[in-house]
Amino acid sequence: MRYRGRFAPSPTGSLHFGSLVAAVASYADALHHQGNWLVRMEDVDEGRTVKGSADDILHTLEALGFEWDEPVIFQSQQKARYADVLAWLAEQGLTYACSCSRREIAAHATSGIEGPVYPGTCRHARIEDPTGKAIRLRTDAEEICFEDRIQGRHCQILSRDVGDFVVRRADGYTAYQLAVVVDDADQHINRVVRGADLLVSTPRQIYEQKRLGLPHPTYAHVPLARDEQGRKLSKQDRAHPVSAAAPLPGLLSAWHFLRQAPPPSDLDNPREFWKWAANNWSIANII
Ligand code: GLU
Repeated sequence: MRYRGRFAPSPTGSLHFGSLVAAVASYADALHHQGNWLVRMEDVDEGRTVKGSADDILHTLEALGFEWDEPVIFQSQQKARYADVLAWLAEQGLTYACSCSRREIAAHATSGIEGPVYPGTCRHARIEDPTGKAIRLRTDAEEICFEDRIQGRHCQILSRDVGDFVVRRADGYTAYQLAVVVDDADQHINRVVRGADLLVSTPRQIYEQKRLGLPHPTYAHVPLARDEQGRKLSKQDRAHPVSAAAPLPGLLSAWHFLRQAPPPSDLDNPREFWKWAANNWSIANII
């Protein structure tokens, strides 16, 4: 099966060094495997979208020599598709509406891998009208394991480590956890390369793929770029801009961060960089 990878930025600001690292890793890995590579705008949480930033990110990617093989899709345009999937999950009895507040959850929850484990309060509440309520997916005690290409084997028991998790938020937006799985499947993505902050989300995504009868991509989670205080770099971090006007230095810093072999010093432009990078990328160098 042909390699299909993707880069899926959220348009909440300009491309920053942290997301450039993920973009470089996923593109280099796709080029190295003669694969297809797509860009998807993850603007499912429309409240966080910053106007103009999708164009800004695409412009920067272009200036840095990235080439995507198919038109960019926007999650904000996929609402009907997500609604169909949510309706199917509900018909199967796999989801339920939840009216618990954060405070109610915190009062009864054990602490899990990413905050409180939802204690199942609404599991049997039979809320008829889900409008304005979150929708949660039922989890179980089966251990979910996968082999990450960089981080090695990673396992979770969702009912213990996460609890029934939100697939549609109370404000009506589809949760990232569901949108990403539906889009990866619809776009036939079979290799995911992304930032290590999403390692803990992956068992939830594999679980959804199982419930929905979708194939499982392979996963590679690249280390996160951090600032001097050890915090994950974010779009709000103005100290590490990525400049469309000076593409090579940004690419070379990301490449170096990913512990790749140093390229020849006479590379002149992004095109030459990518030609060399396609042959010399080695995911095994990362850790
Ligand atoms: N949209 C996510 C982000 O910008 C990435 C999601 C993914 O690669 O699965 O952090």
